[in-house]
Amino acid sequence: MASGRRFLMIGAHPDDADIRFGGTAIQLAKAGHTVKFVSMSNGDCGHRLMHGKELAERRWLETQKAAAIFGIAEYQVMDHHDCELEATVENRKEVIRLIRHFRPDVVLSHRTCDYHADHRACAQLVQDAAYLVMVPQFCPEIPIPEVNPIFGCVFDTFTDPRPARPDAAVAIDAVHDQKNRALDCHVSQFYEWLAEEHGYHGVDFSSWCWEEKSAYLTKHWGMRFKVAADAARQTLKETYGDEAGSKVQFAEVFELSPYGRKVTLEEFRNLLLGKA
Ligand SMILES: [Zn+2]
Repeated sequence: MASGRRFLMIGAHPDDADIRFGGTAIQLAKAGHTVKFVSMSNGDCGHRLMHGKELAERRWLETQKAAAIFGIAEYQVMDHHDCELEATVENRKEVIRLIRHFRPDVVLSHRTCDYHADHRACAQLVQDAAYLVMVPQFCPEIPIPEVNPIFGCVFDTFTDPRPARPDAAVAIDAVHDQKNRALDCHVSQFYEWLAEEHGYHGVDFSSWCWEEKSAYLTKHWGMRFKVAADAARQTLKETYGDEAGSKVQFAEVFELSPYGRKVTLEEFRNLLLGKA
């Protein structure tokens, strides 16, 4: 197995990479690869009571705790305001510099047809970087990479204009508990802001045992990976064999972008499995 591959997941908020790529990231890090999560916004709108700097600092601390449980190399949070991310030229340059500094083999982000304006802007910025990262006269202060990274998108359940294409699928059943333990670090989100969004008003989660918390996290933030596994059943069978592939319950699923380095589906799959 080749080791030392570098994976960069650029999400819009300080929990997006965790939810969409966390299980795969755990397995890649365990296999000796370098994984970095980025949140382009500081998350300073994600709460009913807290806001601004105080919330951004709290959320940064949550990302660092989660990073330790994921076992990843770094979790960077950029200082853009939540709900205000735009695909501007300045932000395009920031993403280009980020990629050129980290020199990833694989860059992942949202799709451009996501529900949240920040997700769409982030997706657009990363998609725009797929070609421009190799243009030497754009941000000339940082040299271009020797080879263009491979770009991909994380799974979502949106179907307009088309559903996510299951080009690669990674079974996460074996690390499901560890992923939930990392999500558990984002107290301001999963036990406060988003809990209230899901109708859990005034619930004291601190009195819940781990099994109850884990079941709650799976119910609200894990089930999409069951949907993903079913959507990617054929890919899972091709990846793990018919029998093992048909038994996978939860999978993180990825779409290969045509705009970065061109690789075969087999190479893309093997990279995400940590085998290439
Ligand atoms: Zn988000």
